[in-house]
Amino acid sequence: MSGNLFIISAPSGAGKTSLVSALLKGNTQIALSISYTTRAPRPGETDGKDYHFVSRDTFLQMAKRGDFLESAEVYGNLYGTSQPWIEKELASGRDILLEIDWQGAEQVRRLMPHAVSIFILPPSLAALESRLNGRGQDSAEVIARRLQAAQEDISHVAEFDYVIINDKLDEALRQLEAVIIAVGLQRDSQLARHATLINQFHQ
Ligand code: 5GP
Repeated sequence: MSGNLFIISAPSGAGKTSLVSALLKGNTQIALSISYTTRAPRPGETDGKDYHFVSRDTFLQMAKRGDFLESAEVYGNLYGTSQPWIEKELASGRDILLEIDWQGAEQVRRLMPHAVSIFILPPSLAALESRLNGRGQDSAEVIARRLQAAQEDISHVAEFDYVIINDKLDEALRQLEAVIIAVGLQRDSQLARHATLINQFHQ
C-alpha cells in the first residue's frame, strides 16, 4: 500500500516551519522529506536534519543523475527533493510531507497527480512584515527582498488544494491535521487498508 504525499508551501514568514514541527511532534505516521540545498546553514541548523547542505557542484551532479523528484532556484539558492527517498518511504506505506516552494509544488503535481497541496498564509501583510523582522537572522536587504518574494509566492495560492491561515498556531495546526486525517480516509486509501474487513461483507 502506498502512503499519501502532502506538499506544504508558504511565503517566508508565514510560520510554516513552526506549524510543521508541531504537526510532526504528535504524528509518527508522517515523515518529513529533508531537502538538498546549496544555501549556507543558518545558525542553529543541522546538516541532515534541517537540510542536506551541499555544494553547487554536488547539487548539479545529483540533478544530472536524476536524483531529484523536483528542484528549483529560490532566492538565488538551489533546492531539491530526493527521488529515491520519496519512492522508498511511499512504498513502505508512510505519508510524506514536502516543505517546498510553489515551483516545486507545480512539478510534483505534474508527476504525482494524487499529491495533496496545502498553502499557508499569514493573517495579514503587517503580520508577515513583523514576522520577517522578528526572525532577526537576516539583513534588512534580505528581509526587503523576501517581503517582495512573499507577494510573488502568494500569487500562486489558487494552485493549491487547501489554504490555511496561520493566525493562531493551535488553530492552524488543528486545521492541518484535519486535512491530513480527511485525506487518509479517502475511499481508495481506505479500501486498500481495510480490504479484509470489506471482504467479510461480501460473503
Ligand atoms: P529556506 O531557505 O528559508 O529554508 O527556504 C526557502 C524556500 O525554499 C522555502 O519556500 C522552502 O519551502 C523552499 N524549499 C525548501 N526545500 C525545497 C525543495 O526541496 N524544493 C523546492 N522547490 N523548494 C524548497
